Amino acid sequence: SSDNTSASAVAKDLLTPVLSANWGDSDSYTLDGYRRHGGYRGLGKALAMDPDELIAYVKAAGLRGRGGAGFPTGMKWQFIPQGDNKPHYLVVNADESEPGTCKDIPLLYANPHSLIEGIVIACHAIRSSHAFIYLRGEVVPVLRRLHAAVAEAYAAGYVGKDALGPGKDLELVVHAGAGAYICGEETALLDSLEGRRGQPRLRPPFPAIAGLYASPTVVNNVESIASVPAIIDRGKDWFTSMGSEKSAGFTLYSLSGHVARPGQYEAPLGITLRQLLELGGGMRPGHRLKFWTPGGSSTPLLTEEHLDVALDYEGVAGAGSMLGTKALQCFDETTCVVRAVTRWTEFYAHESCGKCTPCREGTYWLVQLMRDLEAGKGSMAGLEKLLDIADNINGKSFCALGDGAAAPIMSSLKHFREEYEQHVTGGGCPFDPAKSTVWA
Ligand code: NAD
Ligand code: SF4
Repeated sequence: SSDNTSASAVAKDLLTPVLSANWGDSDSYTLDGYRRHGGYRGLGKALAMDPDELIAYVKAAGLRGRGGAGFPTGMKWQFIPQGDNKPHYLVVNADESEPGTCKDIPLLYANPHSLIEGIVIACHAIRSSHAFIYLRGEVVPVLRRLHAAVAEAYAAGYVGKDALGPGKDLELVVHAGAGAYICGEETALLDSLEGRRGQPRLRPPFPAIAGLYASPTVVNNVESIASVPAIIDRGKDWFTSMGSEKSAGFTLYSLSGHVARPGQYEAPLGITLRQLLELGGGMRPGHRLKFWTPGGSSTPLLTEEHLDVALDYEGVAGAGSMLGTKALQCFDETTCVVRAVTRWTEFYAHESCGKCTPCREGTYWLVQLMRDLEAGKGSMAGLEKLLDIADNINGKSFCALGDGAAAPIMSSLKHFREEYEQHVTGGGCPFDPAKSTVWA
C-alpha cells in the first residue's frame, strides 16, 4: 500500500468514551437521557465538598484546559480571590472556531447536560452565582438544544433558586455570539458579552482578577467544564490512570481531512496520530499522509515524520508545534501546501480584529504574497519577505491570533520550502487541481 498509516487491526481499545459515550442514544441531549447514565451524580458529591476542597481535588486530578492552551483548570479556579466583595462569574467559552476544531459543538449538541452539571460544580468551587455560556452564534440547532437543556435544568432545580444550597441561587445565561473568530479569545469574548465590539484586552490583569464587568471571572472551555462531573463522580485516580504524566485524562480529538472515517474520537491524551488514524481507518485508500495540524491551523504544521509524536502538551511541543485544540487535519500527497496555507492566511486576514499593527497589516501582506505564488507571480525574494513579515507578526502581536497566522507560513516554509520554490520556478502551482480536494 502507498498508505503510510494503514494498520492491520483497528485499535478500538484505545477509545475511552466518557463525554461521547451516549451520543448514539436518541435522547442523549435530554435530562432523562443524561440521568439514565448517572448524570448529575457528580454534582451531589461536589456540593457535599467545601469549595476549597473541590478546587484542590480538581487540581490534583491534573485536568488541563481543553480550549487549546492547556492551562491547569484547578489552578485557574484558585486564582479567584477569596473573601472579596465583588461578584464572581463563570464564563464558558463555547465559541469554537479554530479551523478543523469540531468537538465542543457536537458535545453541546449531543450532551449539553454534561456542561450544565460541570457549570454548577464549578460555580460552587469559585463561589459564583452567575454563569454564562458564550456560544458561537451560527450553530442555531445547538443554541436551541442548549436553551432547552438549561430550561430543563432550571425546572429540575439544578440551576436557579437555592441551586447551590439554601439561599445560594445560581443563574445561567446562554448568549449567542455574532460569528467573529476573535470573540473566542477570552478577553474579546468578555467585551462582546458586555455588549461591545469584541477586541482583546491587555493581560494582565487576567480575567481571574478583572474579567466580566471588571469582576473576578473564570473563563473555561466547554470540554474542560464538561469533564469535571465525571472526575468528581469516578474519582481523580480513575482520571489520572488515563493520559500521560503531565497531561492527564481522556479528551475529544477532531480528526478531519483526507482520512477514511473523519469525526470525533475520545481517547487519552498522549496517544499518537498513527493510533488515531488507526481508529479513523487510515488515510483514504491509496494515499499517503503529507502534512497535518495538531491543533487546527494556528499550530505549526507537522509531517509524516511526526506520526509517532505523543499527542500531549509536552510531546507536541517537543516536535516544534503545539497541541492546541487537538484538531488533527490530515492532508495527503494530492494537496498543494501553498494552496492550503493561502486559504488559512486569507482566513486570518479576514478575522484579524485590526487592533494591533503587526497582525492587521501583516496578515494583509501575507495574503498578497501567497496569492502571487499561487498565480505564478511569486519570486524567491517574496519567500524571504513572507518569512520576514511572519517574523514581525509572531510574538509581536497583541493576542494569539497573530501567532496563529504566522504559524502555517513559517512551518510550511520549514518543511516544504522546495514546493514553494517550485511555484516560483514553475510559474505557478505544480499540482493538478482536479486531483486535489483541498478547498476551492
Ligand atoms: P494563554 O496560555 O495565554 O492562557 C490560557 C488561560 O490561562 C487563559 O484563560 C488565561 O486567562 C489563563 N492564565 C494564563 N496565565 C495566567 C496567570 N498568570 N494568571 C491567571 N490566569 C492566567 O492562552 P490564550 O491566549 O488564552 O489561548 C491560546 C490558545 O487558544 C491556543 O493554544 C489555541 O490553541 C487556542 N485557540 C482555540 C480556539 C478554539 O476554537 N477552541 C481558537 C483559537 C485559538
Ligand atoms: Fe486583533 Fe490580530 Fe492584534 Fe489580536 S493580533 S489584537 S486579532 S489585530
